[in-house]
Amino acid sequence: MTTQTEAQPRHAVLVHHIGHHDLYLIANNGSGRNWTVALKGRAMLRRTRQIAELLASRDQPSTWAQLERQTATLPLPAALPCSVADFREPPGSMEELEPTDAVSATAVRFPLLQAALAAFDSRTQGDCVRTLVLTWSPSLPPHSDSVVEVAHLLERAAPLLSPGLSVVALAPPVGDPFRVGPMEGYVSESLVPWFDRQLVELQRQDAKSRLAVYLSHNTGTSAAIWVLTNALRHLKPALVAIPKCRVRPITGEVFTAEVHEETWVDAAPARDAASVASQEFAMAIDELQRWKAAYVEAIRSPHHELGSFWLAKSSKPVLAVVVCRIADGSMRAFRGCNMEVSLPTGSLCAERNAISSALAAYPAMRRQDVACVAVYGGQLGDKRFDNPLEPCGVCREWLLKIAEINPHFRVITFADDEATRVHVRPVEG
Ligand SMILES: [Zn+2]
Repeated sequence: MTTQTEAQPRHAVLVHHIGHHDLYLIANNGSGRNWTVALKGRAMLRRTRQIAELLASRDQPSTWAQLERQTATLPLPAALPCSVADFREPPGSMEELEPTDAVSATAVRFPLLQAALAAFDSRTQGDCVRTLVLTWSPSLPPHSDSVVEVAHLLERAAPLLSPGLSVVALAPPVGDPFRVGPMEGYVSESLVPWFDRQLVELQRQDAKSRLAVYLSHNTGTSAAIWVLTNALRHLKPALVAIPKCRVRPITGEVFTAEVHEETWVDAAPARDAASVASQEFAMAIDELQRWKAAYVEAIRSPHHELGSFWLAKSSKPVLAVVVCRIADGSMRAFRGCNMEVSLPTGSLCAERNAISSALAAYPAMRRQDVACVAVYGGQLGDKRFDNPLEPCGVCREWLLKIAEINPHFRVITFADDEATRVHVRPVEG
C-alpha cells in the first residue's frame, strides 16, 4: 500500500495481555540444579505478593539493575522458600521430588514480555514513540489480586528491558474472566478511549503521522482474547504470537515470538457521523443510513433470494453509496450492493455497482465529479457484521483510477454496525 510504506509510524503501541504465564520463577533445591517453573493458581497469590514485598523492601534501583535483559531474569534479593506443590507443570526432572519437598526461588523471569518486546523493538526503531499497554482479563478475587501484582512487576521490568519505552497499565474491574460481558465493558471504557486519545493527539501533531499497533495475547481466556481482538480490529494490529508458551512450560531457553500481518493504520479515530461537515460526505452517510434501513426491511420478506442466489457465495451483503455531481451542478447519491451469483464471473462488488448506477443515470459523469463512496458491511441471517469494511483489492484499483485525477475523492467506512461512527479516508493503494 503506497500510503503505508512511505511513512514510518510516529507512535507504536504494543498491547500485551498479561496473565499468570507472564511470571516464572527460577527454583532449586540446593542440588546445584535450577528449574524454570510457573506457579499454580493457588500459590500464585501468596508467592507473587511475597516476591513483590521482597523486591520492594530492598534498595530498588540496585535490585532492579540486576535484571538480565537477554533472558528477562531478575535475581531476588533473598531466596524465597517454596515447595514443589507450588508449581504448575513442573519439568520432568522435578517430578523426582516429593510435592512437599522444599525448594527456593532465587530469581523471577518474564519470558513472554521479553519475547513480545524483542519482536516489537525490532520493528519500531528510529524516533518512533513506543508505548507498552498492559491489559488483563477481569477476574474474581483472590486471583484478581495476583495478576495485579504481576502487572506491577512487568511495569517495572519493561522499561529496563526496552529503554525509552513508556508503560501504561489499564486495570480491569473485577469480573468473571470466562464471560464476554466484563471484558467488553473494560475494553470499551478503558482501552478503546485510550487509543482514541492517542489518535487525536497524533492527528493534532501531524495529520499524516501513523500509528502501528501490535497485539500480544498469549495468555487470557478465550472470551478476553476474542473481545480484545475484535475491539482493536479497526486499528489493524499485527499479532505477536509466542507459539510455545501455550503448549509447554519454558525450560532453559527464552521464548521467541512471531509477528503476523503487520500493517500501519492512519492516525485518525472514527468520528460521529453527525459531525461530518462536508455536504457530499454527509449526503453519502445519510443515504447509506436510508439504504441500510431499506435493506433490513427488504430482507424481512420471506420471498427474497439473497442467501440462496444473489449472495450465494458468502451470504454477506455489502451496501455502498456513491455521491457525484451531475450536469446541473447538484449532488446526487446512488446505491449499490454486491452480487455473488454462483458462476465463475458472477461476483460484483457494491462499490463498483454504485458507480455503474451513477454512470447509467449520467453517462456524461466524469471522474472528478465523484466525491466519495461509502461502504457498509450488512448482515444476513446470523452471520456477523464486518465493519469497518475496506474496499477489496480490485475495487481499490478501480477507485485509485478515480483518485488519480481527483485527489479529493474519499472512501467512507463505518466503525460500528449501526453506522453512526465513520472513517473518511483517501483510497489506500
Ligand atoms: Zn470490491
